[in-house]
Parts: sequence; structure tokens; C-alpha cells
Amino acid sequence: MSAIVRIRLLASCYLSPALSRTAPRHSTGMLGMCTLSTTLGSGAGEDEIERIRHEFEDAKRNYLSIPAAMKDMPKMDPQGIYVNKNVKLDDLQVYGFDYDYTLSHYSDHLQCLIYDLAKKHLVNELKYPESCLKYEYDCSFPVRGLYYDKLKGCLLKLDFFGSIEPDGCFFGRRKLSLTEIKELYGTRHIGRDQVRQLVGLMDVFCFSEACLIADIVQHFVDAKLEFDAPYVYEDVNQAIQHVHRSGLVHRKVLAEPQKFLIKNSQVFRFLKTLRDKGKKLFLLTNSPFYFVDGGMSYLLEDQHFDGNSWKELFDVVIAQANKPTFYNSDHPFRVYDTEKDTLAFTAVDKFLPNEVYYHGCLKSFLQITKWRGPEVIYFGDHLLSDLRGPSKAGWRTAAVIRELEDEIGIQNGDSYRFQQVFMLYA
Ligand SMILES: [Mg+2]
Repeated sequence: MSAIVRIRLLASCYLSPALSRTAPRHSTGMLGMCTLSTTLGSGAGEDEIERIRHEFEDAKRNYLSIPAAMKDMPKMDPQGIYVNKNVKLDDLQVYGFDYDYTLSHYSDHLQCLIYDLAKKHLVNELKYPESCLKYEYDCSFPVRGLYYDKLKGCLLKLDFFGSIEPDGCFFGRRKLSLTEIKELYGTRHIGRDQVRQLVGLMDVFCFSEACLIADIVQHFVDAKLEFDAPYVYEDVNQAIQHVHRSGLVHRKVLAEPQKFLIKNSQVFRFLKTLRDKGKKLFLLTNSPFYFVDGGMSYLLEDQHFDGNSWKELFDVVIAQANKPTFYNSDHPFRVYDTEKDTLAFTAVDKFLPNEVYYHGCLKSFLQITKWRGPEVIYFGDHLLSDLRGPSKAGWRTAAVIRELEDEIGIQNGDSYRFQQVFMLYA
């Protein structure tokens, strides 16, 4: 047993400061006694016993100072704004926003809705077994940024270096052990040749997709039915795309906005402050205008506008932008008639207030607005559509990551902090 391991074990037996004051020196708990007696039994001399006593005293001292050290550790603000690069706010003149999961936020009911609609599509249209209907969305299962291995049928969580995390490989709903991962992949690292078989489930809308993929795989496993993993992804993805593109989800959300949308008056206050400070604002979203309009009208219905509509908060409103293709394509903008639900044929060479534009591309956007890259900041939640794409234009980007609130909450908790301090001391 190494000295460090022994110190940890000895310290873990030492339960409370009160006990330390009353217990005789050799009463260090069962494990501590075993360690000493084993050493004594092996014929060790007085020096060895003294050395172990010193180690134990050191461990005890360190252990007792943990509560004080924990108090000194700074806590992070779950509501905070964190930066990885200096931003001079004075230099920012233009603020752009994505809509879904950026200006608007949704309750877990939305994931359940997408999951249920896609599950029914699988059964009714793609003729999956009716027994698939028994599955329910489980909000505790998916996290953002998973990959599905189309060949092996596994859901993977990769770390920064492209290795499968120890608890991050699921076949269906079963977590695979490290031994199973190595049997399947040879090593935990995903090589270049294996990357091609992975599909990313990058945004929050993918939570329901990840859960449905895992449940369908589990269904085949439980039913002892042979299945081809690529087809599971193809079919589930088709079902998910269908419920989005058909407008099924949008109509259900707008029919009961109070169930699905989460109001936050600070969003309006933020937008209004920017306007009052003379900043330019634009909205750039992949969602259709009627969905954005219905959502924003509901979210801001209690706020007082100077004008008639939420649209007056923005200098430019662009819907169905088709991000991330928007940043590389040459698609022209089209004026959208909100009354007639039609697109104009005339070319767009300027953006007018209160108009709504569809499609378009970054190149035209920059030509029309003349906004320079470094003076623009864009807020969004999607790694590719909202962060990587805009950064190519030199825009500053701000990621809206709601999960960080929970993560920071965990890191601020005594249990996590105790482990951190203990690792430093041990
Ligand atoms: Mg979004």
C-alpha cells in the first residue's frame, strides 16, 4: 500500500473533530488499526511505527482543515456571464439573436411533445411495432452534445480529446462497462476512421431524438429482434424531422404557449436597454415567422412597448435562415408577406423596419447592413449554427447554455467541493 493511499484510508476512518479530541492515539478506526497491526505483525521496528504515526497525524491535520479550506474556495454564480476572451462592450454596436433556446426557452413538456409525436410517426407511418408506444421521454437521460454511432448503435459522450468518457457509452438504455467499450472500440479514443460513422446530436432539440434512439434500440434488444443500427438513426431522424417540418410541434406550442414557453421579463428589459443605448438589433432564426411571432407575442405580452409589436425592438428580422448554410451560401433574401404568407419576387437591397425577411446569406447581409465583423455580437445556443458560423464573419459570439446553471450548482455543493479540497490535501 502506498503512503498516499494509506493516508487517504486512515483519514477516511477519522470521522469527526470531536472524536479526535477523545480517542486514544491508537484508536484510529478499524482500518487504521488493521494497518498498524499488519505492520507490527510483519516485524517492523519502532521507527516504522513512528513513521506511520506521523503520516496519520499529517492526514488528520489536513482532514480537519478541510472545512476551513472549503469556506475559502470561491463559489461561481449560476446566473453569471463567463468569458474566454476579452470583450470591450463599448466596441459592440450590433446585437444579433437566435430565437429558440436563446430569446425563448421551453419547459420539458416540449421534449415530451417532440418525443411522443415522433414515436407515433415511427409506429403509424414507418410501421414500427406498436409496443414502441409504451416508451416515455426521460428528461434525466440525454445531455447536449451526444454522438450516435450509426454502425454500432451506441450513444457516446466524448471528451475534449475525442475519447469516450468512462460513463459515456450506452447501448440502448444500458451503460457499457469499460471492458465492453474496449471490446467494441479497441480503445476509448475514437480514431479518424470511426468519426465518419458518428452523427452529432448538438442542440437541445436533440434531447428527444437521443432518448428515442436509445429506447428503440432497447426495444429491439429486449424483444431479441435483429436490427440494423443505421436504420434506427435514419428512421428516428426522419420522424423527428417530420414533426418539426410539418409544423406539428409549432402548432401545438402555439396552441398552449403557457405549457411550453417560459416567460422571462429580463429578456425584454435587456433588449429595450440595448435599443435605448442606440445599439442595432437583429433576429436571425431558422424557425418560421408565424412560430416566432406567436412565441414572442406571448413572451412579451405583459411588457409595455412604445410601438405596436415586438418587431419594433429589432432593426432586421430574418426567419427560416437555414443556418449554418446561411454563413456560406449565396441565397438571396426575400421579403415575407406576413398577411398573405407569401414571398416577394423582387430583390432585397435594403432592410426596412417592420419588414420580415426569409432565407438570405451572410454575404448579402454584410453588404446590405455594412456592419463590420468586430462590432457585432451574436447570441445563440447551437455550436455550429450560432457559434462557429458567425465567428467566421469575425462576429463575437455568446453561448446561451442553460445546463451550466445545474453544473455550477453541483460544483458549488459541499460534496463536490469536499472532494476537490480532499484531492488537493491527500
Ligand atoms: Mg436555437
